[in-house]
Amino acid sequence: MKVRLVLFDIDGTLVRTGGAGVWAFGETVHRLYGCPGATKAMRFHGRTDRSLVCQFLREQGIPVTETEIERFLSGYLGFLEERLGHQIGEVCPGVRELVRALKEHGDAPHLGVLTGNIPKGAQLKLQAHGLEDLLGFGVFGGSHESRNQLASNALMIANERFGPGFSGADIVIIGDTPADIECARAIGARSLAVATGGDPFEELLEHSPTWAVRSLEGLDPEHLLKLGCFEGGLTDWEALYHSGDTHWDKGEPAPGLVDFLSEYAALVGERVLIPGCGRGHDTVPWVHTGAEVLGLDLSARAVDQARQRYGQVGNPRFAVSDFLAAPGSLGRFDWVFEHTLWCAIPPCFREEYVAAVLAAVRPDGHYLAINYMQPSDPVGPPHAVTMAELHQRFAPHFELRRHWVPRSFPGREGRERMFLWRRRSG
Ligand SMILES: [Mg+2]
Repeated sequence: MKVRLVLFDIDGTLVRTGGAGVWAFGETVHRLYGCPGATKAMRFHGRTDRSLVCQFLREQGIPVTETEIERFLSGYLGFLEERLGHQIGEVCPGVRELVRALKEHGDAPHLGVLTGNIPKGAQLKLQAHGLEDLLGFGVFGGSHESRNQLASNALMIANERFGPGFSGADIVIIGDTPADIECARAIGARSLAVATGGDPFEELLEHSPTWAVRSLEGLDPEHLLKLGCFEGGLTDWEALYHSGDTHWDKGEPAPGLVDFLSEYAALVGERVLIPGCGRGHDTVPWVHTGAEVLGLDLSARAVDQARQRYGQVGNPRFAVSDFLAAPGSLGRFDWVFEHTLWCAIPPCFREEYVAAVLAAVRPDGHYLAINYMQPSDPVGPPHAVTMAELHQRFAPHFELRRHWVPRSFPGREGRERMFLWRRRSG
């Protein structure tokens, strides 16, 4: 399903104001309320203006009334306009090109903003860079403290304006903070996280956006409009195996796995699970160690070919199965091994992936992975894979015993890294 409405966050996503908003906020609390420095400890990223004002008033013991909020915000707007008049700030990389490409697209989506700014503040920030026509559809942070509530409002307005039946799945929210990702999830919308606002790319990935990029520069509008269509991925993998377009399949086990298992000569009777096993080549070196091996794949065609090549019965066994669908349903294994499966899983499903691995590995068992390290995500798969994200996601449950650059298939040298994790017993 194609995206019908693209909603941009403003600060750190469309424009960087050189800190004009934070400065204006600071001036307001200083000049209007005589509280210099009161904003130093406040976190502005991803917040709505209303939530910031309410926080300040509460902390100062000032009654939070509509009149007081308005007084604050009108002072703030004056300072903001003054600061923006100094022509500081810039449009974020790739924004103009993306907006232009979306407007000119044959199947052009509606464009708008979903922002923590109040309407006038948003207008000032966008006008400073000639982007104010994005305000044709706008949800603003003057009415709510919660960004998730703004997203609900956006969905309601879209229904009124574009007709009933408009759902969250028709919307993509582009933003630079975890709050943007979270508010998209709250309404079932897709999210594109962009690391141009200060939050590190790795941290954004950790929040499971539908997709993440380091900047909007070079972003293919067609890919943006199809964002999340991998949800039909089961059929896609099947189609790829049917067409034979399986360039990742080298017809033999991963060299790094072969080397690793030459050190583990006897795993007799140990149970090994290989999700995403494709045509099953990686089962071979495991079987040679004496382990009992089960390979899973989404594609019935791949599993069929694995059985034809490596046996219909006995060891290894193969099954058509979605590893993410029913964590733990196959029981516990001593080892879970994967080869470049993580990079095929879009960021929005990675939480489920970690849960599935956790459910499959017995306490003190091992999770061995050959990860394809992909520092950014131009058009996945392979999707972005970083050391930081792997560590953030797995370290709470697994102890990292070793990681190293393995021997790889030609063309992948230096791009793969092997990780040996042991599940914590607690
Ligand atoms: Mg932002």
